[in-house]
Amino acid sequence: MQRRKFLQVVSSLSLAYALPSWSATAMVSIMQYSDAGKALGRATLPKVNKDAEWKRTLTPLAYNVTREQGTERAFSQPGYDNHAPGLYRCVCCDNALFDAKTKYDSGTGWPSFWQPIAAENVRNIEDRLFGMVRTEVRCALCDAHLGHVFDDGPKPTGLRYCMNAVAMRFVAYGKA
Ligand SMILES: [Zn+2]
Repeated sequence: MQRRKFLQVVSSLSLAYALPSWSATAMVSIMQYSDAGKALGRATLPKVNKDAEWKRTLTPLAYNVTREQGTERAFSQPGYDNHAPGLYRCVCCDNALFDAKTKYDSGTGWPSFWQPIAAENVRNIEDRLFGMVRTEVRCALCDAHLGHVFDDGPKPTGLRYCMNAVAMRFVAYGKA
């Protein structure tokens, strides 16, 4: 009896997920930025999901990291030690994520920041993968996995946003 009830719940859940309107109505409020890092104001946009396109256009590693919660090897990707002024955007949906002025050398071999460009542009989720409790960081607009946030960062926030370089696209200021 209990098992049948469970199955009913499962089938109604999967039905709900199958309805296209269910995902189409999910809206996200983010702050938009120009390529020069200028805040353009808040926008409420439908959540981005372009899985077929991402499979086609992203590198296999970028797809694995952003859509399958993978992790690039430390020190493996150019950009972890880039400290040029610029803006870091989501590689999947272009959402602005970090300003280079909050980037610092954490010595980990991953791009590290002490603050996102706007709090609402990223989303924190508790992650219990591999038996550890960590805080996963995702792009608020398309749910791309970006990395994790830890509380051993520098001042003024004390946070360390430990990101995957392949999850982001760097736009140098002055070259936009
Ligand atoms: Zn995104």
